[in-house]
Amino acid sequence: MTKIRVLDPDTVNRIAAGEVVERPASVVKELLENAIDAGATSILLDVSSDMAGITKIRVTDNGEGMAPEEAILAFSPHATSKIRDIADLSAIRTLGFRGEALASIAAVAEVTLVTRPRGAGALAGTRVVVRGGEVVEKSEVGAPEGTTVAVERLFYNTPARRKFLKSRNTELAHVYAVVENLALAHGEVAFRVVHNGKERMATQRSAGLQNTIAGLYGADLARALVPVEGRLPILRIRGYISRPSESRGNPSQISVSINGRSIASRQIAAAVREGYGTLLPKDRYPVAFLDLSIDTDLVDVNVHPTKREVRLSREREILPAIAAAVKEALAGHDLARDVPAEPVQQQIVTAEPGPVPARAIGESVTSYTAGHRGLTLSDKQLRRTETEGRENLLPAMEPIGQVAATYIVAEGTDGTLYLIDQHAAHERVLYDQVVEQRDAGAGSQELIMPVVLSLPPKESAALRDAMAHLADEGFVVEEFGRDTFAVRAVPAALGAVEDPGTVRETIADLLADEARTAPDRRQAVTCIVACRGAVKAGALLTHDQQKRLLAQLTRTKTPWTCPHGRPTVVAFDRKKLDGIFRRG
Ligand code: ADP
Ligand code: MG
Repeated sequence: MTKIRVLDPDTVNRIAAGEVVERPASVVKELLENAIDAGATSILLDVSSDMAGITKIRVTDNGEGMAPEEAILAFSPHATSKIRDIADLSAIRTLGFRGEALASIAAVAEVTLVTRPRGAGALAGTRVVVRGGEVVEKSEVGAPEGTTVAVERLFYNTPARRKFLKSRNTELAHVYAVVENLALAHGEVAFRVVHNGKERMATQRSAGLQNTIAGLYGADLARALVPVEGRLPILRIRGYISRPSESRGNPSQISVSINGRSIASRQIAAAVREGYGTLLPKDRYPVAFLDLSIDTDLVDVNVHPTKREVRLSREREILPAIAAAVKEALAGHDLARDVPAEPVQQQIVTAEPGPVPARAIGESVTSYTAGHRGLTLSDKQLRRTETEGRENLLPAMEPIGQVAATYIVAEGTDGTLYLIDQHAAHERVLYDQVVEQRDAGAGSQELIMPVVLSLPPKESAALRDAMAHLADEGFVVEEFGRDTFAVRAVPAALGAVEDPGTVRETIADLLADEARTAPDRRQAVTCIVACRGAVKAGALLTHDQQKRLLAQLTRTKTPWTCPHGRPTVVAFDRKKLDGIFRRG
């Protein structure tokens, strides 16, 4: 184990400075990175939240742990075991090196660290509690090898910072995105994410990138990807990319890691896009997962405080090589063979990454018990999406019933068992319709009763800023008093929303969304509108409603996944069922 020491002032001055703790997801990122750097092979992230936001973040790893004196030193500013001076950066293999994270987190929260070094024998573990930068407790405790860091009361002493936090679901979405990125870049680690006691994501160790992708986004998406390989003396490219038929409205699903570091790079995203050439329309982007190994001395990681960006030397060789590898992968692949018609899952998908506001705990409980009101609401929601469709991509199936008021159970004519996520399925239906109507210039639809919003000053400002592009999407909003707004019309695609709550929530989601470019915003609006308007998880559906939903889903062009790429349908064919029960 390497000893932690405080960097000398000269080294400190040469390290990219800046804030690392902006929101709960930043805490998650730093803690997970520390666990990975500690050589963990298994990491558990346990997040708790209430309606107001994330209340606790706890990361448990089976890494090398820390000796008692190190456990205290780890909280000092610029204390790190990962580099000694700036020269070490050119061969850096760890994710961390600034020695700032634990100190910065503990300055604005209450942090409890429990750790015990690997191979410590009879030596006890150490527990350290630091609150607002002060060590308030240090004791010996029994503990397994490895480290657990729990962070509570984030920003308790910095109310200004706390005010900038977005809704719980937005913050959770950022947390899930952090885990996804790290999990994609670190197949050597098994990640498990639990939120309020429920497992949300799980990857297996060393299962290969494609399996990790399946664990995070569903087996359908994973199976439909095309492998990419490429090599230069200074570079190795590995990964998976989508077929041209599976594209997105923005580049946010192009995920890139360089030497285990998940990074954001417009240039690399552009190179990937370039590899598709005219296989994709101008404003469409692929889904891609690329893992690049580049000589460490060509990658300058010291340019950004949270290390999301890196500077590459010899970019002029690297970028074209990426574009060429993508192009070659697509050329060598039979693109006509589309997504398999029977997406029999290899395993039951438990992953549920990304923002799913409809599944907020409190909400699903209320709609579950809402009884009659719930039924009529679902009816209205389904009626809105009753259209003539052309496609017929799902096999014929008959609903048998619902499980947990969330999944429809159906039987295919050939005895295949289908489970359908009712919210995801309806979201797909709505999404396709919203896109279609939007592209047809359907415009807005006036509300019979305008919905009045009285907002706190910060949100008013945000809404005022957003008014012009909300109008582009069909929301007619007028300010008619101090911080008071009237929503007079909504996108026609949203249908006749009588429920002022839905209008308010949709606008709140839109304001919380940070999409910047116009196509991103467009995509975000469509997704939010689809998600908000969709039948909820936890809503009881009648047999007839279940049938209608399945019929609607079958008329969509891509019935297998929701707009976020999660599966809508999983199938267990007869063979699979027989296998489970060890028949024949
Ligand atoms: P950095 O990661 O940049 O070194 P941090 O503030 O994140 O800085 O952590 C300080 C030091 O504490 C690390 O260098 C490491 O030695 C130790 N440390 C932090 N988290 C863990 C962990 N989960 N397991 C073992 N050691 C850890
Ligand atoms: Mg760190």
